[in-house]
Amino acid sequence: MTIGIIGAGLTGLTLGSLMYDYEIIEKNSECGGLCRSLVEEGFTFDYGGSHIIFSKNREILNFMLEKLGDNYVKCRRNTKILYKGNYVKYPFENGLSDLPLQENFECIKGFIEALTENNNNQPGNFKEWLYSTFGKGIAEKYLIPYNEKIWKYDTSEMSTVWIDGRVPKPPIEDIIKSSLGIETEGYKHQLNFYYPEKGGINALIESLEHESRDKIIKNFDVKSITRENDGWVVSNGVKRKRYEKIIATHPIFDVIHTIKDVPSQIYHALYELKYNSLITVMLGLDVEYLNDFSWLYIADGDCLAHRVAFPSNYSKSVAPEGKSAVIAEITYNNGDSIDRLSDGEIITRTIEELHKKMIIDKDTVCFTRAKRIKYAYVISDLNYEHNIELIKRFLTHRGIYLVGRFAEFAYLNMDACMRNARDFAKAVQK
Ligand SMILES: Cc1cc2nc3c(=O)[nH]c(=O)nc-3n(C[C@H](O)[C@H](O)[C@H](O)COP(=O)(O)OP(=O)(O)OC[C@H]3O[C@@H](n4cnc5c(N)ncnc54)[C@H](O)[C@@H]3O)c2cc1C
Repeated sequence: MTIGIIGAGLTGLTLGSLMYDYEIIEKNSECGGLCRSLVEEGFTFDYGGSHIIFSKNREILNFMLEKLGDNYVKCRRNTKILYKGNYVKYPFENGLSDLPLQENFECIKGFIEALTENNNNQPGNFKEWLYSTFGKGIAEKYLIPYNEKIWKYDTSEMSTVWIDGRVPKPPIEDIIKSSLGIETEGYKHQLNFYYPEKGGINALIESLEHESRDKIIKNFDVKSITRENDGWVVSNGVKRKRYEKIIATHPIFDVIHTIKDVPSQIYHALYELKYNSLITVMLGLDVEYLNDFSWLYIADGDCLAHRVAFPSNYSKSVAPEGKSAVIAEITYNNGDSIDRLSDGEIITRTIEELHKKMIIDKDTVCFTRAKRIKYAYVISDLNYEHNIELIKRFLTHRGIYLVGRFAEFAYLNMDACMRNARDFAKAVQK
């Protein structure tokens, strides 16, 4: 009997490309999940947020590039942090000499104090980790405000389990050099990155989708998963499909809500899991050359967007000739003051704010769209590990496997999703 894969995002499609007897069930009319791209009026925007292809894992990186054939370009990161009107090299701690001298001094002083402080205690939360790793100056000027803006969560309520490999942690030497103005690079495995030449990040999806083309069932919103005899029945309320095994790549919330007899402590743990949502503001500009940045980080509270990406600096073909594409990313929580704004209000505000910060000229805007993504970032709060372990143990016991970003409920980038899919496919087909 066939294996049922729920969700045709990057993870579900990767699993499919590595399996023989399977079907992929997708609730939307199109595949791709977070890796979908909007193509309109000659622009291509990654509307689950601006994506780039990078990985520390050469094998997975090659796997991704192979899927693109020759449809990719290699780019060198030129990313900045907009800090009090100055462009500071990214990561912030590698750009200290771009700061006014007094602020540079405060950062290096705080860093040395953190190093020399006789503190043997392990940081108990993300905020403490930021202070103890980078010192007061870097933490308070940029890292805490930026992180609280993107996560929409108090950093002292976040755990440190997710940090490794995601928050760049430079060697001491680099911070000293950076303060003195000697060029250094941080977060090096992302310094060079790749991007599809045509089609946005969805090009990766299209290639994988092609491999599974006869085995994808679209517009099938899984509403129940039940055990029957020696297999599983998946239903959307109208149709039923039978499978030998179920691999869920869709959000863990939906997984739990589609199965019966879930103990109350599992629901309790589920409702304790934290995530945030994203609104992507896509702007087309009637300018050939805007800047040479890859993307910008903005920690300031006077602007909704925490990150602004310039995908036409990766590949010219994401905008019509003579025009540029810009993606502003704004996170929010269900029901908060950002969520309550209409898409139109968010677009108008974003254009005004980026204009004021001299990132764009509002008179050149010729295309606008906004899209909301309910599940954007997993937030590791202090109870995260306990809660996720409980739910995973329960689902494993029931015989439902989880692979992918919101199924595993972990901070997984594309490469990690593909690696986990590959590892899972190997294990299950042994
Ligand atoms: C803002 C942002 C920027 C990012 N940038 C990068 C980047 O630059 N580089 C990088 O490597 N990674 C990046 N990522 C991460 C990357 O997008 C994810 O790791 C990856 O897309 C996750 O794929 P997935 O298949 O696990 O999940 P999803 O993409 O969430 O796919 C899940 C699929 O399940 C389907 N589904 C949901 N419910 C049901 C149901 N009931 N029945 C059937 N189907 C269902 C959905 O429609 C979807 O197609 C970024 C993420 C975000 C949010």
